[in-house]
Amino acid sequence: MKRKIIWRKHLVKRVGFLLLGTAMFTGSYGLVMTGMTHLLLAVEAKRFGSVLVNSVPTIHRAMCLRMPIDWVIYRPEFFISRTFGNPLYALIFILIAISFFVGPLFCGWLCPAGLTEHLSRLMPSRLKFSLAGKVDPAPLRYGFLIGYIFVAAPMFRGTPIRSICCSYCNWTWTEHVWEAVFGDFHGFIAWTSAGLITFLLWFLILGIFMKGGRGFCIFLCPAGALMNLAYFLGKHIPFAWKLKVEKEKCTLCGICVRECPTLALNIVAKSEKTLTINHHVCNLCMDCVNLCPTNALKYGKG
Ligand code: SF4
Ligand code: SF4
Ligand code: SF4
Repeated sequence: MKRKIIWRKHLVKRVGFLLLGTAMFTGSYGLVMTGMTHLLLAVEAKRFGSVLVNSVPTIHRAMCLRMPIDWVIYRPEFFISRTFGNPLYALIFILIAISFFVGPLFCGWLCPAGLTEHLSRLMPSRLKFSLAGKVDPAPLRYGFLIGYIFVAAPMFRGTPIRSICCSYCNWTWTEHVWEAVFGDFHGFIAWTSAGLITFLLWFLILGIFMKGGRGFCIFLCPAGALMNLAYFLGKHIPFAWKLKVEKEKCTLCGICVRECPTLALNIVAKSEKTLTINHHVCNLCMDCVNLCPTNALKYGKG
């Protein structure tokens, strides 16, 4: 009973944070983007006596967590000039640096695209499929990241393949869905076949119809892959925060394995059966910490 109350409180807290992330980052009403726009407007007005910034940015236009990755690799001077005009373009690198020390908390608690996880909870179990304990998402995830970086190379500039990363963007769809919730359906009307595939993958097949609802995150999101790579590297230093299992407390009941939304937990038979954490995909949602009946999972320093 006590565990159920802890679990419900945790879910309420997490949905609250994801809605806060949505309010901060989604659509033309996103607080972070509108705040930055007003700041830029004020700076422009002070410097030039007139206003040059004339549009309210949205998550994928002015706070994109993906395009700056390829700018830094292939066009660093362009990244510097764009970031000078709008510091939000540096956000992905701040998130990667934070992930090195404390893990990808942004993914588990603030990214608006993560709400699919909770919509998936509302789906009846018989309509969902589960990949828990069956697939290791890390190779596909890093493979997609490498592909993403490859097709962003200058030799593909001006070709249709170059736009693959923007065409298959789940944040764009997150915004379209929220705009539709508030009565603006233009995003749906303007969809392309690539957009439709993304919607099917992010929202339906790997979203609400997959147990955990985070399929797009763990297989296809390059920003999440980089944050997890930083988390994996950082976890080796003693003062970084990470998720750990206290083996002597774990009864191998499997509850956490079944419920982990990112397929990060597995019970494997080495010399003896043991619970393993895949830090390449764990997004620190803390579901397992709050579900474990023996408090065997801990997030902390060291
Ligand atoms: S993996 Fe990507 S889409 Fe998923 S929560 Fe993280 S940043 Fe958002
Ligand atoms: S829920 Fe707790 S006891 Fe059960 S397998 Fe996970 S860590 Fe071990
Ligand atoms: S391992 Fe635990 S904290 Fe990490 S994603 Fe799975 S349930 Fe969340």
